[in-house]
Amino acid sequence: MTQGRLPPEQTPPDLSPETEALAAAKRRMRELASEYAQKLPGLDTHSLMGGLDASLTFIPMGDRDGAYDPEHRVVLINSRIRPERQRFTLAHEISHALLLGNDDLLSDLHDAYEGERLEQVIETLCNVGAAAILMPEALIREVLTRFGPSGRALAELMRRADVSASSALYALAERTDAPVLYAVCAVTRLDTEPGDEEPTNEKALTVRVSGGAPGVKYSLRPGTVIPTDHPVAVALETHLPITQESYVPFRSGRRMPAYVDAFPDRQRVLASFAFPVRPGKGVGDVPGD
Ligand SMILES: [Zn+2]
Repeated sequence: MTQGRLPPEQTPPDLSPETEALAAAKRRMRELASEYAQKLPGLDTHSLMGGLDASLTFIPMGDRDGAYDPEHRVVLINSRIRPERQRFTLAHEISHALLLGNDDLLSDLHDAYEGERLEQVIETLCNVGAAAILMPEALIREVLTRFGPSGRALAELMRRADVSASSALYALAERTDAPVLYAVCAVTRLDTEPGDEEPTNEKALTVRVSGGAPGVKYSLRPGTVIPTDHPVAVALETHLPITQESYVPFRSGRRMPAYVDAFPDRQRVLASFAFPVRPGKGVGDVPGD
């Protein structure tokens, strides 16, 4: 996950062979996970285990979220983490079990990667698998058909799949065809600058996480402050959803025109920024390309 890192506003497309290999592995992991999920009686915590010949144990695990022990066929989940996180962790550990049970994919991964990179790729794939288990293709398609690629769709997916806003954002962005950037914004305490005499305790509405549909090269950095007159801020203030022509409030101060859908959800706003499509040009093309 990219949450917590500071991606630049623009990232060049990465078409290295490794990315191709990883994209192929993600597709296969998604297929494995979807097949698994289709056979389940439901998507509640205990039903999720239905397809696995293993037992489930909740115990305090310190700063680990969970683990899968293939030898004793036990999935361990940290009993001290939030239920929503336990659910994602369970789906992640199930994905470890599915991967271990698939010799083809596993040996391809061992051929392509080694050491720490192999570990990283496996963790990434298990997050992809978890998302596919908890947010089946049909659910994402239904939400997109009904609400369009919008902040509202993000809120619905999050609620119906019972996942975190960031998990829902990544899954929705990946399946969005239109040139749309999504963001989850929340009120946070602004960091005190080093050298300040007193902590300010000042709070502001900022971007927590953002991500775009494939081909959208822009993102909003976590921590970017939303101006108080922006529709996203107004939606939080009024508790009413707002859809209107506005702009993407980049941290640099640059305002890029976009059609904004801002959907308030308690102390957060789930937002989408749809870019106008220019004929013959990709969205987010660097000016002067
Ligand atoms: Zn893992």
